[in-house]
Amino acid sequence: MLSPRDGKVIASVDEAGPEDVDRAVRAARLAFDEGPWPRLPARERASFLFRLADLVEASAEELARTISLEMGKPLRDSLGIEVPAVAKTFRWYAELADKVSGEVTQSSASALALVTREPAGVVAAVVPWNFPLTMAAWKLAPALITGCTVVLKPAEQSPLSALLLADLASKAGLPAGVLTVVNGPGPVTGRALGLHPGVDVVTFTGSTSVGREFLRYSADSNLKRVWLELGGKSPNIVFPDAYDLDAAADTAAWGIFFNSGEMCTAASRLLVHRDIADDFVARVVSRAAAYFPGDPLDPATRMGPLVSAAHRSSVVARVSEAVSGGARLLTGGRACLPDTGGWYVEPTVLDRVDPAMPIARSEVFGPVLSVLTFSTTAEALSLAGDTPYGLAAAVWTRDLATAHHVSRSLKAGTVWVNCYEEGDLTVPFGGAKLSGHGRDKSVHALDKFTDLKTTWLAFP
Ligand code: NAP
Ligand code: MG
Repeated sequence: MLSPRDGKVIASVDEAGPEDVDRAVRAARLAFDEGPWPRLPARERASFLFRLADLVEASAEELARTISLEMGKPLRDSLGIEVPAVAKTFRWYAELADKVSGEVTQSSASALALVTREPAGVVAAVVPWNFPLTMAAWKLAPALITGCTVVLKPAEQSPLSALLLADLASKAGLPAGVLTVVNGPGPVTGRALGLHPGVDVVTFTGSTSVGREFLRYSADSNLKRVWLELGGKSPNIVFPDAYDLDAAADTAAWGIFFNSGEMCTAASRLLVHRDIADDFVARVVSRAAAYFPGDPLDPATRMGPLVSAAHRSSVVARVSEAVSGGARLLTGGRACLPDTGGWYVEPTVLDRVDPAMPIARSEVFGPVLSVLTFSTTAEALSLAGDTPYGLAAAVWTRDLATAHHVSRSLKAGTVWVNCYEEGDLTVPFGGAKLSGHGRDKSVHALDKFTDLKTTWLAFP
């Protein structure tokens, strides 16, 4: 595999074919059906996750460097954001493990009705490369804590960090078969997992098109449950009465250029009121220079390269297509830093974007902001909803009624008011429409990995 940093070979990784996937699923099946894991007291399962969190922290430098090398995230974010998020996730679910209970329902005096949460079985977790270990931890922690066993399939672009995590899990003492990592191309390795009759649940984060494939795999095999967390085209709506337009401009720029725009929740559509549009867009454009890309291993770099040469070409082509269609390029739009051999693209802002243009409707997954304007709240809402996605949205206003009306009206899994990308493990994360339906994080993630069982005891 090649590093996006300089296009050079950094490792070669074995690919798991269908037979390897079968071995991994059989091991997970055995660990679930006969092993100690689902039978341990929840508190004991938690102790393994606490140990894993400690080991993740102790290996933070190595994990962060590996992520930055394999997928190009700046070290300041892999070390400052991603690795701490992984440790926090394992710890948060470990703390939750023995605090979730079943129910005793109101039944007749001659019966006792229990509703218990049973672990769902063998989970296949299939994740993308943009937050390789955070996405993995969001699946692994709740699945493991409920007593499930897991086969993890990372993206081809980020196999190394997942292998390091597997190594730490074995150092934490997880019993054999509880967590297995299988690397390899999606259409081979991912497909074999999706079709395997020994898998009970698929938890998937990635693109909408591959999400559809997993629903087909399920239909064509054992009707396994498929949870989908997919792409987005999130609107960031700015009203003239926002508390602080400079803070809103800082956040609008960060919302699209953070992680090179390779974010499912990227603030890729700026919807700004016509009265302030020219001034506000100028403020956003002035911030773009701070994100001019650089070496992801340099601690000062705020934006790294894109994940692959092919992805870089597709992002640049999307910008050219938008400009040919009438959008105006305010800054960026080109590949840059060719001497590095890496896959860098300038931070890009396009205005005069028409809502019907492809750039306004489908995900770019790069550092490309599209600006659209509105005059009324109704127009803002209509523009905001005019994509097939429903992952996230933001609204900037000091008017409580507007904030409430807009956030209640938007079809989205998360709405931020006067902020963007905020959150912690207490709140669920996921989408609506073509952004999928699964929820990661929070106590609600346990629903994905548990079955409710009713036990009705009669006392004749
Ligand atoms: P992707 O191409 O859909 O891949 C996601 C995973 O599915 C990878 O492990 C991939 O493996 C595998 N895969 C690909 N084709 C497959 C197939 N035919 N059968 C089975 N598995 C297959 O997505 P990506 O490029 O890695 O990530 C970007 C996408 O993820 C964007 O759409 C983004 O919005 C979305 N995302 C969503 C969230 C969220 O929580 N909603 C979070 C982050 C990212 P290979 O790569 O090895 O082929
Ligand atoms: Mg891929």
